[in-house]
Formats: sequence, structure tokens, C-alpha cells
Amino acid sequence: MTTSIAGRSSRLVGVPGSEPRRLENYVRGEWVTGGGHGTDLFHAVTGAKIAEASTEGIDFGSMVDYARRVGGPALRRMTFHERALMLKAVAQYLMSRKDEFYAVSAATGATKSDSWVDIEGGIGTFFAYASRGRREFPNETFYVDGPTEMLSKGGTFVGRHICVPLEGAAVHINAFNFPVWGMLEKLAPTLLAGVPAIVKPATVTSYLTEAVFRAMIESGLFPAGAIQLICGSSGDLLEHLDGQSAVAFTGSAATGKMLKSSRSIVENNVRFNMEADSLNYSMLGQDAVLGTPEFDLFVKEVVREMTTKAGQKCTAIRRTLVPEGVLEEVMRALVKRLDTTTVGDPAVEGVRMGPLAAQGQVAEVRKSVDALRRVTDVVYGNLDDFAVVGADRERGAFFPPLLLYAKDPFAANEPHDVEAFGPVNTLMPYRRTEDAIELAKRGKGSLVGSLFTNDDDIAREVVLGTAAYHGRLMVVNRESAKESTGHGSPLPHLVHGGPGRAGGGEEMGGVRGVLHYMQRTAVQGSPTTLMHITHEYTPGAARREDRVHPFRKYFEELEVGDALITPRRTVTEADIVNFAGISGDFFYAHMDDIAARDSIFERRVAHGYFVLSAAAGLFVDPAPGPVLANYGLETLRFVKPVYPGDTIQATLTVKQKTAKEKRDGQVPQGVVAWDVEVRNQSAEVVAAYTILTLVRRKDCDERT
Ligand code: NAP
Repeated sequence: MTTSIAGRSSRLVGVPGSEPRRLENYVRGEWVTGGGHGTDLFHAVTGAKIAEASTEGIDFGSMVDYARRVGGPALRRMTFHERALMLKAVAQYLMSRKDEFYAVSAATGATKSDSWVDIEGGIGTFFAYASRGRREFPNETFYVDGPTEMLSKGGTFVGRHICVPLEGAAVHINAFNFPVWGMLEKLAPTLLAGVPAIVKPATVTSYLTEAVFRAMIESGLFPAGAIQLICGSSGDLLEHLDGQSAVAFTGSAATGKMLKSSRSIVENNVRFNMEADSLNYSMLGQDAVLGTPEFDLFVKEVVREMTTKAGQKCTAIRRTLVPEGVLEEVMRALVKRLDTTTVGDPAVEGVRMGPLAAQGQVAEVRKSVDALRRVTDVVYGNLDDFAVVGADRERGAFFPPLLLYAKDPFAANEPHDVEAFGPVNTLMPYRRTEDAIELAKRGKGSLVGSLFTNDDDIAREVVLGTAAYHGRLMVVNRESAKESTGHGSPLPHLVHGGPGRAGGGEEMGGVRGVLHYMQRTAVQGSPTTLMHITHEYTPGAARREDRVHPFRKYFEELEVGDALITPRRTVTEADIVNFAGISGDFFYAHMDDIAARDSIFERRVAHGYFVLSAAAGLFVDPAPGPVLANYGLETLRFVKPVYPGDTIQATLTVKQKTAKEKRDGQVPQGVVAWDVEVRNQSAEVVAAYTILTLVRRKDCDERT
């Protein structure tokens, strides 16, 4: 059954004045309503029914097929830069409609700042990948990974790694706590890689995911088949995946393990990335006694992590490790701060913490707390008696902040094993830093750990001691605190994931997250063949010389492999003396005959920077032309010394071309990377590097 989209706001659920409706699934380019009874979804604050979800009757196999046949080819035709610009445009579009999403997000129990993390944090990952996609990937449909590997003595047979998009579908299964960020942080690297995705949010908060997903479809910016949506059970979806597919799962370890070991995943070797529960630690350093800035920063962070999103964050601090000497003071400071946390309806002024996402969660967290309580004492919080402002405690999914204390954390297993996915935290004392490290590891693998210390020796000991068990470690002191992004914030630039119990997965992390959705293939052949395949000059490949100087050519006229072999120049002692005078570099190896004789060079040598400058003098064509500027220099190596009397000659070869997008008021241009080799009279390489120039384009279309 297909329904048409009426007005925007009439589709939103959970907002004042809206009627409950059945959520829709986006299947093969159409909005489809599932049949049957469906699952009721409720407002987290009022407990009122706001929507139903159902996927009954959906042909999941056809969704995978559609992604494979329609979405994949369309995305693979686009270059990284085109995909990145698409992400940027969608992000801008979503920002223009963010108020709608905030309105719906309130139904999940989120405060304004909780919603900000979810909505704008999610859109932020699109922006971040849009910019990385253009800076760190070529304007090609594939990615060349790493340098050329020399495989033969004569250099006629070499190897290179390329990464190409998987040709199947990516299935994204998300947890309920970040209905927007969870979707967007997975979509950004997937779509940038050129792989279509089927998004399956957790049913309980899928109404918010549906609202944002609908906006993405309405933007019209994604090609057909790039994204599809399931609100409700995913049925036999995983059964249809093959070895070209990938699953990214976020949720509980139990569900993750079950799905990861399902028949089709195992038999087809489907890539399965898992982000699961994690008992993250935060540690106060031995040096951070009462009165130090680190002590205060630690207390603030622990309480913030307990109460942001009512503690329903995979990265929240669950285990708080404190030197036993300051335990009392830490307890007092935490209690004082927790006392200012008003629980209630986030719409009411002054409320700092909202409810859990749904009633079912209250029972879940209670169960975990019961297990923790068997081995801990309560420092703060009362599950049976707590105030709720502006809402009915029984109808909404409210849960108070709860601080527990494990007196002997080495003897108790529960605080290291049981994740209460709410505003719950266990304090643990430690005697020596090495004990704290052992306690941190007892989580058996976590997403994140944090340390508050102004002692960099402690920082080093704790980071190296706990890194193998953690995906991310944050060290905070008085210098970094102001600009710190916080213990609980995964960032698109950094790896999100953790070993062992945390799922063993890795998301985002800049380029790394994109490569998860690509196949890395080693390609072997002659340098010229590889240059032709990769569009990148490979050392040893055939070069083309032309009568026209390459600096006289426009971006479009240059081809990878175009080369210039310069005239020669003999380096004299006068060159060295003059260069020392101009640069002020009188290093003994250039200027002091006796000291140079005793040095590794055995006699005076030319400055390396003189060799670079002289090479530029040999290859530059001075008259105004298409070359706009020298943009930088990379991978410079001075391979051999240049002595007075040596004769140098440079070879300049177009290594790689990257068209830049057109910007208002800017000359159309592209970046040309040039391979430069400087050789001496014996044909030995004395310097090798890559220079980057901005070269004018003749013409270009609007987008690229
Ligand atoms: P969950 O119950 O494990 O559910 C996670 C996802 O799996 C949901 O989308 C769920 O869909 C789906 N699912 C469940 N059974 C499935 C099946 N048989 N086939 C296909 N999909 C299935 O976890 P949750 O309660 O939503 O999330 C809370 C947990 O997630 C916490 O333990 C938390 O630590 C963890 N988490 C981890 C991260 C991280 O990045 N590492 C982030 C957030 C949360 P339905 O909703 O339709 O059942």
C-alpha cells in the first residue's frame, strides 16, 4: 500500500496536536505502510500513544535487491567529491528543518541539549564527512591506499592497493537512544564510500528517525535506491545479504552476538560491525586532590555523564575510579551536584534530566540496578521516592540518578559486568594507579575511558595501561578542559568502537570508517599499467614529454604521466655561500671545511633547501600562465648529498590531478600533484618529493 505525503507537519508524531498514526517504511523508492496489529509507541514523558510501527507484508529481499540493482550503481557512478557534496547539501537541508526534529525529539524524553547531541550532532557527521571526502579522497570513484610496493629488482613489476565500494547493501541496525545521530553517523561514511543503505532504527524511537529520514527523501538529493527505511521488525532481511554486503549493528551485546552468528552472516562472511554495551570508566588521578581544577572537572563530568540523556548513552561513565584518599570528598561533591539535578518534563523550565526513552527501559534498568545493588551501597538516589517536575511519575518513563559505591571493587563482578542503561554509576576506590588500571580492564573492553590528571606521567601510565581495552581515551587537565569535547561524545574524526565486550567494532574515525564499506584489493602489474588504472603516476611508469612546458597547460590539458626533464646546473661553492647569506643558515656542514671533513659528509655539502630552490629554478616557467600558485610540498627526502661541482637535473611528472569544486568569486582550479626527482651527474637521485600546485581550469560545470 503506498500513501502520498501530505503536508510536512501533519506527518510528525509526538508533537502537540498530532494524532497517532502508523509509521511508514521506505521501500524500493516508495512509502509503504505495514499491515497487521503493529507495535504501539508511546510518548516518554506523558505515556500517551503517539504512533504504531509495523513491517508486516514487506518483502525484505526485494529491498536488498533494489539497493543492489538501483542504489549501488547510481552511487558508484559518482566520485567521492560528488558524494561528499551530496552529503553537504543534505546536511544543509536537514539543518533548515531542524526545528521539526527538535519538536519530535521531545517525545523521546530528550532535553533541548540531549536533542542537540542527537540531531545536530548527527547532521554534524554529514558535514564532517562532506569535508573529509573532498580533502582526503580523490575526485575518483575509487581510493588508492598506500604507496607503490616494489616487487621486482628491475622495477617492471610493482603492486598497489585500491579500495572500491562493495556492490551489495549496507544494513544499519541502530539502538533506541540516538534515533538521529545513530542513523546519520552510519550513513555518512557508507554513502561516501558509494554503498546504498537500509536503515533499521530501534522500533521504540523510530518515529523520530522516520521524521528525519522523510526529510532526506523530500530533499531529493540522494539518487534512487541510496537509502531505504524499516520502522519495526526487520524480518528475514539478513537472510538476503551476500558477501558484498555489510551490517553495522548498535545495541546490546546479546542481540549483537545473536545476529552476528546468524546463518547467512556466517555462511556468506558478511562484514559485521558491532557496537555494543560498554562499562566505560572515568578515573581521577592520584595528583588531583580536593582544590585542584582536575578534581572539580572530574566531578562535573561524572554528573554530566550520568544525567545527559538520562544516562542512556553507550559512552556514559558507568565506573568511576577514585583514589581512596579522596573518596569521601568526591562522594560529597558528587552528591552536592546531583542534588541540583531536577528530573521531569524537559519542556518545563529548570528541568535538567528527562525520562528514559520508554517504560520498558525503566523495568530493564531496574533489573540491572537490582543486580548491582547486591554488591554495592547507595550513595545517592532513591528509586521509590523521587520528585518529578511537570509530569506524572507513573505514566512517564522516569528514573532518578543513582550513585552506587563498591567498597571492594576487585571482589565484586557486577559493577564490571552489568550495564544499567540509565543514570546509574558505581564509585570504586583504588589505592595505586596500577590497581586502577586493572579495574579499568575489568570492563573486558569498552568504548571509552577518561582520566582527570595534571600529571603527564600518570597520563602516560594509564593510557598505555588501558589502551588495549578501549576504543577511545580522553585525558583532561586544566589546559585542555575548556575545549574538551567531553567523555561521552564520539567524533567523526576519531574511532568509535571498542574491543571485546564493546563489540569489537570500529565506526567513523575519518577515512577508516569509509574504508569499512570498501574492498581493499592488491593490484600487481607494470608501473605504466598501474598508472593507467589508478590515475596516479607510479615510479617507473612511462612518461610523456611534450614541446609545450607543463606550466603552460590548463588543468584539463595536463595528463598523469606528462613530464618535463629540465636543463642541468652545476652547483658551485659560490652557490653555497650565497645561499647561506640569503637564508642565514651557516650550518658547519655547508660552511666549515674542517668540521665538514669530520662530519658524515666528509666535505662541504650544498644546503638541501638550496637543491630544492635550484630545482624549482630549473623547472619553473616564469611567465604568467595557468599555474596559479605553489600549494605545498610533501614527502620530501634528501637521498644523497650534493657537493660543489656536482651537476643536478630535475624531472617533473604529473602525479595526480584533483579538480576543485567551483566557488563563488574564485578562479576555477584544480590541484596538480607533481612528482619531482632531482638527480646528479651519475643519475643518482639526490632529492625526491611531491609538489602541489593550483592550476587554472578552462571551464567547469556547477558542481565539480
Ligand atoms: P537492542 O535491544 O539490542 O536493540 C538494538 C537493535 O537491534 C534495535 O534496532 C532492535 O530492533 C534490533 N534487533 C533486536 N532484535 C533483532 C533481530 N532479531 N533482528 C534484527 N534486529 C534486531 O538494544 P537497544 O535496547 O535498542 O539499545 C540499548 C543498548 O545498546 C545498550 O545496551 C547500549 O549499551 C547499547 N548501545 C551501544 C552503542 C554503541 O555505540 N556501542 C550505542 C548505543 C547503545 P527493535 O527495536 O525493533 O527490537
